[in-house]
Amino acid sequence: SLQVAKAYVNEVYETVKKRNPGENEFHQAVKEIFDSLVPVFAKHPKYMKNGILERISEPERIVSFRVPWVDDQGKVRVNRGFRVQFNSAIGPYKGGLRFHPSVNASIIKFLGFEQIFKNSLTGQPIGGGKGGSDFDPKGKSDAEVMRFTQSFMTELCKYIGPDVDVPAGDIGVGAREIGYMFGQYKRIRGGFEAGVLTGKGIGYGGSLTRTEATGYGCVYFVEEMLKDQGKHFKGSTVVVSGSGNVSIYAMKKAMELGAKVVACSDSNGYIYDKHGIDLNTVIQLKEVDRKRISEYVKEHPTAEYHEGCTGIWTIPCDIALPCATQNEIDEESAKILVANGVKAIGEGANMPSTLEAIDVFLNNKVLFGPAKAANAGGVSVSALEMSQNSMRLAWTFEEVDAKLHEIMTNIYRNSVQAAAEYGHPGNLVVGANIAGFLKVADAMLVHGVI
Ligand code: GLU
Repeated sequence: SLQVAKAYVNEVYETVKKRNPGENEFHQAVKEIFDSLVPVFAKHPKYMKNGILERISEPERIVSFRVPWVDDQGKVRVNRGFRVQFNSAIGPYKGGLRFHPSVNASIIKFLGFEQIFKNSLTGQPIGGGKGGSDFDPKGKSDAEVMRFTQSFMTELCKYIGPDVDVPAGDIGVGAREIGYMFGQYKRIRGGFEAGVLTGKGIGYGGSLTRTEATGYGCVYFVEEMLKDQGKHFKGSTVVVSGSGNVSIYAMKKAMELGAKVVACSDSNGYIYDKHGIDLNTVIQLKEVDRKRISEYVKEHPTAEYHEGCTGIWTIPCDIALPCATQNEIDEESAKILVANGVKAIGEGANMPSTLEAIDVFLNNKVLFGPAKAANAGGVSVSALEMSQNSMRLAWTFEEVDAKLHEIMTNIYRNSVQAAAEYGHPGNLVVGANIAGFLKVADAMLVHGVI
């Protein structure tokens, strides 16, 4: 019954909280998943009997290591590296590496936990993992980034491999860092194992469309949600937070579909350009020059720059795509978006909305594409990169883009279907969580208690 299922879920959740004190982001991610699963346990008590929930919320392995490096002044610096190998029931651990000063065990565990369900939802054979470091790439020279990254990989390489654990990028880790890491891994291993990392450059085993995949996938997903209500990106006003890899390609695809993107941001503040953001300026500033988004107004004097990150959600829009970072939309920002008439949210970042913000969107019938579904395009194309590496061939941009589009459509349909089947029609949070969970849980059941 629902009562029994609820009591069970709450009991396991309390155990997780006790075992991981103070890890608020991890608790938040676990709470969201656990609450979604109540109807599954009520309908199929078999999932309660094998300790699936107790096991799935405890990482299979966590490594934490010292990353010493020498800065340009000759001073020795020390950062902490992490890799959380959360669940390998359906494939090798898969998930990005994040380099950001906010990185700690809680952040990596929440990301790794989410990755289990997201990766399952893609329909591809990949388990869940995540890693990173509290290293801050901001203001570091290229040589410093290289030395840090090489030191990081010198330790990480002991735990990864094409059939074991396959890292990729995340915040602060892009093509440059993947290049340095691949070079160091190759040097230490003494062999070319292309499938050990994804997000590689096209010239040495990378996949076309990987760079665009998360942003494009997010827009494909939202377009599916809109279509079901006879709506489209075309003619709509869009706000996209962030200005990194996810944000840039979400903006690009939204514009291609005929939307007007009026705002984006970085960790210092946001720009509002009522004429529509000039994407080339953003790409030049953020990807080539590695400068702040505030510089945008120098080239576009009619645009406005505002300090702070939450103000961006006060801009009236039809569609909001949070593509910056966790918990960037709180309850208050959600209420403002709703009051301003927002119709759809597509989460490009991981866990960008707080639990309270999600409730605001769902209670007000805003179309809500949760991160695990809406941002799964990145890791999906990572899995396609692994496939191409195994086959020693490379697909064209069009081929990979078509596969990405199909994967995002399937994720949408499966989430809609699971939500309806388990009594929460239209609730894609519940639908995505259940659909992602079932595949992993079924594999865990037949593997025995491990
Ligand atoms: N960091 C991305 C994510 O959050 C991509 C991971 C990957 O490609 O392995 O899903």
